[in-house]
Formats: sequence, C-alpha cells, structure tokens
Amino acid sequence: MIVDLHNHTPLCNHAVGEIEEYIAQAIKSDTKYFGFSDHAPMDFDPKYRMKFSDMKKYEEDVLNAKEKYKNKIEILLGYEVDYLKGHMDERVLNADVDYLIGSVHFVDGWGFDNPEFIGKYKEQDIDEIWQKYFDTIEEMANSKLFDIVGHLDLIKVFKFMPNKNINEMAESALKAIKNADMVLELNVAGYRKPIGEAYPSPSLLKQAYKLGIPITFASDAHKPEQVSMFNDEVIKMARDIGYTECAVYRNRVREFIKF
Ligand SMILES: [Zn+2]
Ligand SMILES: [Zn+2]
Repeated sequence: MIVDLHNHTPLCNHAVGEIEEYIAQAIKSDTKYFGFSDHAPMDFDPKYRMKFSDMKKYEEDVLNAKEKYKNKIEILLGYEVDYLKGHMDERVLNADVDYLIGSVHFVDGWGFDNPEFIGKYKEQDIDEIWQKYFDTIEEMANSKLFDIVGHLDLIKVFKFMPNKNINEMAESALKAIKNADMVLELNVAGYRKPIGEAYPSPSLLKQAYKLGIPITFASDAHKPEQVSMFNDEVIKMARDIGYTECAVYRNRVREFIKF
C-alpha cells in the first residue's frame, strides 16, 4: 500500500512481531507512508491494549524507527482510540502524534468484534444492533476528537447481516463524518474475517464518495506478514469508485497523495 496508516505492535497484547519487522515488510511492498496506530490505553478492556505506562516507550520506539528509516520510508505515529463514553483519556486525546483513528469496538459495553462474546448477536434484534452501531459512529464523528474513522462497518465482522438497508442505516453517520471533515480508511482486516471483504463495503464506499468523504488505506496488521496484504483489491475498489488520492497526516495536518 502506498499509504498504510493502521498497524499494531505487540504492546497491545494481541499483535506479534517487532516494529522493525513491520517496517521491513512495508518497505518490501513499496509503501511510502507507514503509520503505527496501536490500541491506545483505556481503563476499560485493558487486556487488549497497551498500558498508560507503555505510551512513552511506544512513541519513542516509533520515533526512533522513523529516524532510522527516514531515507527509505516515512514512518508516522498515531493511536487507534476507542470511542467509548466515559473512558476516553486526555493523555491519549492530547498525545503528540500525527493522527488519531477513532474506532467503535463496543456497543453498550459489548465488545461485538470479540469472538468470546459472539453469542450476544442472537440476544437482540439484528437491525437494532446495526443501527446502534452506526449511531455510535455518528456520535464519534460529532465528537470531532479524531482524524480517521476506523473500519466503518466493523459490525459486519461475523456476517450477521441486517434486514434493513445498510446504506440507509449509515447515511446519517456518513453525513456526520463529512461534517467533521474526517477520512475513511479502506481497511483490509475484513478479508481475514468471516465477512471476507474490506471495511467499508463497496456500496458504503460509493455512498461516501458521493458525499465527498476522502479515504486512506489500512492493513490493520497484527503480524508483520499482514502488512500490504490485499493491497491490489482495495486499490482497485477505490479506483473503480473514482478515488485517485488518499490522505496522510503529519502533526494532525492532512495532505493528499495520488495513488
Ligand atoms: Zn487489534
Ligand atoms: Zn480496530
């Protein structure tokens, strides 16, 4: 991927491989801008994220790598932050980084993308689950705390699909994303999951394109070998819809790169 802003490190406790191994794979795949955005610390669900006391090490390790590889690739520093009311922390929101990805991994405290809790999909009306998810995405956009929307339609991960029209359910959230001047990532992690397609779906991406919402690209790698996987698929999907440029951020300032 020419630009790849969403990648993890072992500090989050569910990714493997060293920072330099991720970077080696990115260089091999001709990535020009490679960003780390590991799961930011939070006082909720601490098992799947770094600790507050790890932030300094994480930032230093990424910045050291940025310097070391500056002639080969531009390394960027970010966090993937959970939008979860009452649990977002100023230390993360005000961190000195290039960008923040805002992600919704919890609906009413339920970690819906965690296979441990998959049973909950059967306990509630599926349309209500989806609508609640998109309503939370909308709130996240309205908070104006973040630069990039993480995996827009993550709620489809296990392929529990709604009966209602997804584009209609997502319309208000997409308008809020446009209004907040946020960027959508084309995230390939969905290809590795039961749903077997990118986040967002081609249909939602088309809708975003019509609203004038920009994009960026994301491996969402939790292992070095996942860096740039499915690159051809997402580039084609973006081009077919009409996109010709994607976003990078430095110090929370956006710039567009042709692809
Ligand atoms: Zn993760
Ligand atoms: Zn995520």
